Amino acid sequence: MEDQLNNKLIKKPHDLFVDIIAKSYKDKNQNTYNDAIKNMQFTIPQGQFCCLVGPSGCGKTTLLNLLSGLDRKVEGVIKYHDGTIPNDWPIGYMFQEPRLMPWLTVKQNVSIVTNQTSEEIAHSENLIEEMDLIKYMNAFPSQLSGGMQRRVAIARAFVNKPKILLLDEPFISLDLTTADLLRQMLIKLWNSQKNTIIFVTHDLREAMYLGDRILFLSKGPSKVIHDLKINMQRPRKAEDIQMENLRIKLIKEHPEILSGKI
Ligand code: ADP
Ligand code: MG
Repeated sequence: MEDQLNNKLIKKPHDLFVDIIAKSYKDKNQNTYNDAIKNMQFTIPQGQFCCLVGPSGCGKTTLLNLLSGLDRKVEGVIKYHDGTIPNDWPIGYMFQEPRLMPWLTVKQNVSIVTNQTSEEIAHSENLIEEMDLIKYMNAFPSQLSGGMQRRVAIARAFVNKPKILLLDEPFISLDLTTADLLRQMLIKLWNSQKNTIIFVTHDLREAMYLGDRILFLSKGPSKVIHDLKINMQRPRKAEDIQMENLRIKLIKEHPEILSGKI
């Protein structure tokens, strides 16, 4: 694996290489360990929009915590080019809930994660404008709808121009129109910054709309059970017939990806 990593697979400085032998959590009552992830290997080239699809409880958030470096307790290797994750590594992480600070304005919520130089504050304002929230620059989170709060969270996730951006089911529980709008905004920002995006969802249609590629995870202990490239031009349409046909074909040929049985 190491040789492969050094000689073939990793070509750009921000390619991501994952080889997890096991990630386990201690069972507090029985003093035993349960595997959440087992034998999971994949490589994500720099700049790819990769979706992770898997059943609830299979280990998606666990994986993102490992990729972000928030959790470093793992048996295996997570590498970016030629090293593990440095402390100052530019990784963005957008959680399922927007997690805005209620006592800060929209602008402060975005700029707080930067060093607050005048350039960074200007960039925060630009992103808020791109998210169509210019009128709410000085509003507080409680004055915003759920969709607007998520737009602030997206602006915050991109403000430091992360090389790698991790998103954990960010558009769950939004109405369809709002979620569609946010997906379009996400693609636009990704196009302008060319980050690597790892986007967790359990919605296959969403993954097909967004991703260059989908990694399907089994139920826990999770591993990759199918790796699908989506070679479809953008901008894509959510109700595209070609996409729907691909989805039906995929489920027919790989029923395991939705049954969570493997
Ligand atoms: P997903 O995000 O796919 O829904 P998670 O990564 O949250 O799944 O959880 C995967 C498995 O690991 C589940 O069985 C969950 O109960 C367990 N788990 C997650 N976090 C912890 C933790 N901090 N301590 C113990 N078990 C955990
Ligand atoms: Mg989760």
